[in-house]
Amino acid sequence: PTFESMRLKEDLLRGIYSYGFEAPSAVQSRAITQIISGRDVIAQAQSGTGKTATFTIGMLQVIDLKSKDLQSMVLSPTRELAKQISQVVSNLGDYMNVSAHACTGGKTVQTDIKKLTQGCHVVSGTPGRVLDMIKRRLLNTRHLKMLILDEADELLSETLGFKQQIYDIFTKLPTSVQVVVVSATMNRDILEVTKKFMSDPVKILV
Ligand code: AMP
Repeated sequence: PTFESMRLKEDLLRGIYSYGFEAPSAVQSRAITQIISGRDVIAQAQSGTGKTATFTIGMLQVIDLKSKDLQSMVLSPTRELAKQISQVVSNLGDYMNVSAHACTGGKTVQTDIKKLTQGCHVVSGTPGRVLDMIKRRLLNTRHLKMLILDEADELLSETLGFKQQIYDIFTKLPTSVQVVVVSATMNRDILEVTKKFMSDPVKILV
């Protein structure tokens, strides 16, 4: 398939081509339309396969730009990755007037407070800072439509210790939230998340 055949919004398509993409990668071909359809999706895909643009394009297609509500949130295991994703959202959404914010530790909360109170459509963050912002009632999840767990195997690994924070974040989200999980490998922790928080997920293996 082509990006055109996915029936994407004109301004999103323009962002994709300006970014330099010509044709969708394998995971993009299979997962973008499933994400747009509203299904919960588990994509087993490594870094380098185009996974970031997969969920970013899916997310941008369904965001309502007329609203200023936070509609999509991405959780990542590292600050660098969270920042990169926020950048990709801004780049692919360059013609859409989309507002994205990287919400990570390692910097003062002042920037978060400013951005979050102004309103942004997408938050890309690390679990600790995101949960902190939710608890302080600075990050409003009431209208959240989509949650993405990127590099879920890393995100849920014992070493990083984010699992409880992620479970806590889930309790603060609308029960109807669409969940997209991207992971290089599958394991028991991911299956547990699948069972607890996802409904009838589509599984895509590339
Ligand atoms: P990722 O798997 O998200 O780490 O992406 C790996 C690299 O592939 C990034 O540099 C992307 O910009 C690039 N990329 C993703 N999708 C495409 C595409 N459809 N065409 C060309 N490059 C792409």
